[in-house]
Amino acid sequence: PEHNLAQFLINSAEKRPNYIAMYFMGKQISYGELLEQSYKLAHALQGLGVHKGDRVALMLPNTPHAVVAYYGALMLGAIVVQTNPLYTERELQLQLVDSGATVIITLDFLHKKVLAVQPHTSIKQIIVGSIKDYLPFPKNLLYPMVASKDGFDLAVNYSSEVIGYKKILASSSKQMICVEVDAKKDLALLQYTGGTTGISKGVMLTHYNLIANTIQNANWCYNITPGNERYLAALPFFHVFGMTVLMNLAILQGDSLILLPKFEAQMVMKTISKMKATVFPGAPTMYIALIHHPRIQEYDLSSIKVCVSGAAPLPREVQEVFESLTGGKLIEGYGLTEASPVTHANLVWGYRKIGTIGIPYPDTEAKIVHPETGVELPIGEIGELIVRGPQVMVGYWNRPQDTAATLRDGWLYTGDLGTMDNEGFFAIVDRKKDLIIASGFNVYPREIEEVLYEHSAIQEAVAVGVPDDYRGETVKAYIVLKAGSTVSQEELNVWCRERLAAYKVPRLYEFRNTLPKSLVGKVLRRKLLEEEMERNK
Ligand code: ATP
Repeated sequence: PEHNLAQFLINSAEKRPNYIAMYFMGKQISYGELLEQSYKLAHALQGLGVHKGDRVALMLPNTPHAVVAYYGALMLGAIVVQTNPLYTERELQLQLVDSGATVIITLDFLHKKVLAVQPHTSIKQIIVGSIKDYLPFPKNLLYPMVASKDGFDLAVNYSSEVIGYKKILASSSKQMICVEVDAKKDLALLQYTGGTTGISKGVMLTHYNLIANTIQNANWCYNITPGNERYLAALPFFHVFGMTVLMNLAILQGDSLILLPKFEAQMVMKTISKMKATVFPGAPTMYIALIHHPRIQEYDLSSIKVCVSGAAPLPREVQEVFESLTGGKLIEGYGLTEASPVTHANLVWGYRKIGTIGIPYPDTEAKIVHPETGVELPIGEIGELIVRGPQVMVGYWNRPQDTAATLRDGWLYTGDLGTMDNEGFFAIVDRKKDLIIASGFNVYPREIEEVLYEHSAIQEAVAVGVPDDYRGETVKAYIVLKAGSTVSQEELNVWCRERLAAYKVPRLYEFRNTLPKSLVGKVLRRKLLEEEMERNK
């Protein structure tokens, strides 16, 4: 494979320069235009003194800027640091300081946050784009825009360190530029982990890691036709799942991306039916929101061929209902930031097992080992999932101890507990850290959640271990009911008692309208636990 990951874009653009690379709120951007803008951005960064190995931070939702900035920085051999536009100033500052980024690219309605933290970081320049760079009349329905008559110019005048995206592209060279890299050593990305379980760490991913995982995805049996698909990009590109399984995959294959800057169920359905999207990778909560939407029957979702669900367990019911509503396939895969991210998936048309994460990707080894001794366990026993393959990170940025604990002999210790069956299919039981130990018994939250999901009144359920003086931990269930449904705590208690051993049955219930979630829709158990601690103070 090519050495620089950005070569994917160059190849696809050379093959079909006029083919649409991105649809963005009614605007079309061809591969030729995307390539030209990326070259220009690379030259602009070079002009700002960015060199190979320097860190360039992005704080962008899914707008064309996110794709141009990503490939532009890679073309220069810079290391992309993805940050989440919803970060608080504190989170942003921690990540900018940790990565040592010197330039950040963002949008006008976000840049005040950057300016606030800049003095405490090594950021020297801020490039600020605006939706107006791509749309003459922004339909700012989707945006919490700090709309001004001339948002872009306002940004330029805001401070001397702020440089307008459109302006800098206009004055930049469109000559080809793609710095050679040592693919196995040179980093393409510092991808910070979601921080679902604790402190967010910078995962060092090389060009080779990302090229490998994109090609592994492309070769997987998704039954999609390169150059002929339309990917619905509702997952953010700044998260590793959206980056690889949407952006890099679509660009490698020369397909079109339909950009959605945020997930909103009705907008997603409208876009699928209007734009005839064929591929829709997502997180389980996205599919859950769609199947429960009261207006789903009004939209034609029959263009959907393949959806790949990852990031969290996919409840069986969700898979079945979604498939019957769209006629497309919804398959479950598994991955983590440290593996670029995908290591396992089910086959789309071949043999699949609902409730499992499928089998390891080509060139990927996987084993279940004893969480303490590291000894491989027999088929069917629960242990820690470890993986080895070309997509596995080279380590955590500036954290040698964490690296040594997580990467051993090339094996990545995932921190997830799982099993392997006699046909080589893996299933995730739970995260090591989410395991609840109630009165000395191991309780896997996922098992309880599956039981709760089967109840017809329940839309979402999460089980968490909360501190308990007597039992050590006790199971608490957080429930979101379907619209118009009711159920009492006593009824749920009976439901669970019929299906679970007594020590697994939740002792506490909390009914809520929503659950705290990360941007890819992962439930933030840590937040629930923090709330609980706060309450019991
Ligand atoms: P942090 O590691 O910082 O706590 P995070 O968990 O959000 O944050 P990611 O790398 O985004 O970091 O998520 C990877 C994790 O997501 C996996 O380790 C696993 O626990 C979970 N996961 C991914 N796919 C699945 C799946 N199909 N089923 C169950 N869990 C999954």
